Amino acid sequence: MTGTIEELFPGVYRRRHEALDLNCGIVVGSDGVAVIDTRETPTAGKDLVDAVRTVTDQPIRWVINTHWHWDHAWGNAAFSGSSIWGHTRCQEVLEAVGAAEIEAVKHWFRPERHHELDDLEVVPPTGTFDDMAFIDLGGRGLTLTFHGLAHTDADIVVGVTDAPVLYAGDIVEESAPPFFGDGYPLDWPLTLDSVIATRPEVVVPGHGDTIDLAIVEAQRSSIAAGVDIARTAHAAGIPVAEVPVSGSPFPEPTFRELVARSYLQLDADE
Ligand SMILES: [Zn+2]
Repeated sequence: MTGTIEELFPGVYRRRHEALDLNCGIVVGSDGVAVIDTRETPTAGKDLVDAVRTVTDQPIRWVINTHWHWDHAWGNAAFSGSSIWGHTRCQEVLEAVGAAEIEAVKHWFRPERHHELDDLEVVPPTGTFDDMAFIDLGGRGLTLTFHGLAHTDADIVVGVTDAPVLYAGDIVEESAPPFFGDGYPLDWPLTLDSVIATRPEVVVPGHGDTIDLAIVEAQRSSIAAGVDIARTAHAAGIPVAEVPVSGSPFPEPTFRELVARSYLQLDADE
């Protein structure tokens, strides 16, 4: 076991993992359990299944991927028999994962875990939607909502009908800056505005500790401030590598990715 389970509300849990400081959700209804994100490999996913068994005997009937990133969805194969839910685009990206994509993330794994990536089976969601879906767990439900482009093109957030909690995936992070490598910085603050308007009390980010809306709002402001710098620099024709990092709300590597992705979006608009 390589994680710690915290009960946020009755029957509503998160498991925080040492690996990648990743959070997964566990929500128990009278008809079964839903697990939100499945970790980085089927081996790690199996560890999550074992952890679920420590809090309930109910079958895991539903799995939800907040987005298609490997650390959130490549454990899906450990949940055979569960119906897997995600954004339509999440399904498309996971269907396309091949040897090159698996090789590209190998450096994130300690050598003794490389065998977990050999013959890795990536299982895409089949319960797909573009805007919204609802899952009835018995006695409570989950709302799955796409609020717009942000950390990827397929981020969904998961709310619980009878608890003021939101599983937010990586559209907010607590223990590291947001990751912009596949992101849409120009849209991200507006997407967060839409999420903030739902007024959750407890937000479970993809990585790190639980946070409140004030932290989400602060991260929204930081992203917007970074985009302002990128817009000004883009208009002035400054190359990405030369945009001054002074005034950036993020460390330099994160800032450069934010600027690069902003430029891609701005170039596409021209
Ligand atoms: Zn991610």
